[in-house]
Amino acid sequence: MSSEKLSCLIIGSGPAGYTAAVYAARAGLKPVLYTGGQPGGQLTITTEVENYPGYPEGVQGPQMMMDFEQQARRFGTDIRYGLATKVDFSDPTNHKVWIDDQHLIETPAVIIATGASAKWLGLESEQRLNGYGVSACAVCDGFFFRNQEVAIVGGGDTACEEASYLSKLCKKVYMLVRREELRASQIMQNRVKTTPNIEILWNTDTEEILGDTGVTGVRVRNNKTQESSVLDVTGFFVAIGHQPNTAIFQGFIDMDSAGYIQTIKGSTKTNIEGVFACGDAQDNIYRQAVTAAGTGCMAALDAERYLAEKGLH
Ligand code: NDP
Repeated sequence: MSSEKLSCLIIGSGPAGYTAAVYAARAGLKPVLYTGGQPGGQLTITTEVENYPGYPEGVQGPQMMMDFEQQARRFGTDIRYGLATKVDFSDPTNHKVWIDDQHLIETPAVIIATGASAKWLGLESEQRLNGYGVSACAVCDGFFFRNQEVAIVGGGDTACEEASYLSKLCKKVYMLVRREELRASQIMQNRVKTTPNIEILWNTDTEEILGDTGVTGVRVRNNKTQESSVLDVTGFFVAIGHQPNTAIFQGFIDMDSAGYIQTIKGSTKTNIEGVFACGDAQDNIYRQAVTAAGTGCMAALDAERYLAEKGLH
């Protein structure tokens, strides 16, 4: 087990983590940022981002995250690949974080920017066929289903965006929506409703994804009529929301019942001195790249002030 002492550790590499890194590095905190299991975060599995200010023509999510990373590097952030696997925040003057269970970091300031991950339906067949026709990322995997028929479950903005993306590649896209309405914004609703090769199946639950070595169909049930039917699809996409990546902080950091970190109003401070939280790990309301970046900035400023107050910077 190796170990080192740092003045500021940032965990996570989405818009929140990289923005915190830009501010912390420019403030001279010499931050080290660990990327986590999905370097660049959720935006690396998105297509076009049209609502991030400063990109009047829009930008591809992966490109935007490369821009964020480059900017954080430019000011001297030490960016490393690795996953925080355990923490011990019991000593407020010396926070401990283990990376990949083999490298111990001790630091007075930790910025949590671990984001959120895709949710799954929880079906046995979904797990078994994951990577064999079942996916939570249309942008990553849609290509494999060109000119085929696919289904996507969910009724939020993500499901609409992904259905719209798939409709350009696939022959037909079934949207499986469990209620009689979509949760998505009006503009996204209009987009899917007016796309000829997207068919929305309302009040529809997924019973089972069929197939042994690949998806051959999906059995769905109308939850009003209780009638089951089989759709002959070869791809099944899940787009039903996200959960915060905060499990390793449980027992130390205050969270709500869904696992979102609770911060002190008007700040990024948590219940533990010197531990700050930003981005989707603490936001179940706005969840936008721009709001994540905004709170990343706040976290770095909060950390800088904290270290200055303690005479550590
Ligand atoms: P949401 O939580 O907004 O939507 C989840 C959808 O999945 C809902 O329709 C929900 O149904 C459905 N769902 C949840 N659990 C199940 C289940 N077990 N079985 C079947 N259906 C289920 O998540 P999103 O990821 O779509 O969006 C998250 C946030 O990100 C939102 O604020 C959204 O606006 C934003 N976003 C913005 C984009 C943009 O501006 N371009 C793009 C993508 C996301 P029900 O409605 O019945 O609960």
